[in-house]
Amino acid sequence: MRIDILTLFPAMCDTVMSESIIGRARQAGKVEINCIDIRDYTLDKHRRVDDKPYGGGMGMVMAPQPIFDCFNALCDEIGAKPHLIYLTPQGKCLTQERVKELARMDNIALLCGHYEGIDERVIEALQPEEISVGDYVLTGGELPALIVADSVSRMLPGVLSDDECFEDESHYNSLLEYPQYTHPAEWQGRHVPDVLLSGHHANVDKWRRERSLERTFYRRPDMLEDADLSDKDREFLSKLKKE
Ligand code: SAM
Repeated sequence: MRIDILTLFPAMCDTVMSESIIGRARQAGKVEINCIDIRDYTLDKHRRVDDKPYGGGMGMVMAPQPIFDCFNALCDEIGAKPHLIYLTPQGKCLTQERVKELARMDNIALLCGHYEGIDERVIEALQPEEISVGDYVLTGGELPALIVADSVSRMLPGVLSDDECFEDESHYNSLLEYPQYTHPAEWQGRHVPDVLLSGHHANVDKWRRERSLERTFYRRPDMLEDADLSDKDREFLSKLKKE
């Protein structure tokens, strides 16, 4: 899969995407991530990419021309039109479900706004999917784009190692994950649950499933509506409801 981040701050994005699991995956060719400088496409002789908003008001607005030309150059280079996403607090909130769908695409392009955002006409012209990372406002779309690139990349085959499986993780199956422990078995008088030290795999699986159901029930009961629950799970949850 190829992910292109269209931004005024390519070094910021590239630095983050060069570290840890995603950095290794890029080096191993499991995912291609490019950070493209929108400023390289401006036709302004002073390399400006923004201007004051029509109608007055605070801040600057990113001009349409550099963004439009940057995206078209990318389409020419790839020889296809990547699925374009504009990161915006006005978009639909990102979910693990949408992440899974995006991970099945061959090419996605992530457009980062900055300042007051981008000129509405380039949104009309390019018709991107609009994604938000939450109901709050950041200074730019770079952190949201990195969130999308990270969450999508880790779904790709070979990006996580076998012992970093994502299928038990929170949200993957509409459940929150069970609590995790590592060495030592006792820390500050607090003990790791005995069952995790028992080596009895079936009991460990049962304990983890129940803790996962319990956490979801108490913290995010809304998620249970979409979870794939067995009769045993339902029986366990019905006991919690009676408590
Ligand atoms: N004036 C815009 C508004 O009120 O909707 C907000 C602009 S914000 C200061 C600048 C840029 O940051 C946006 O164009 C967008 O790319 C990005 N951004 C800020 N908050 C975001 C969020 N919650 N999700 C996704 N992108 C966000």
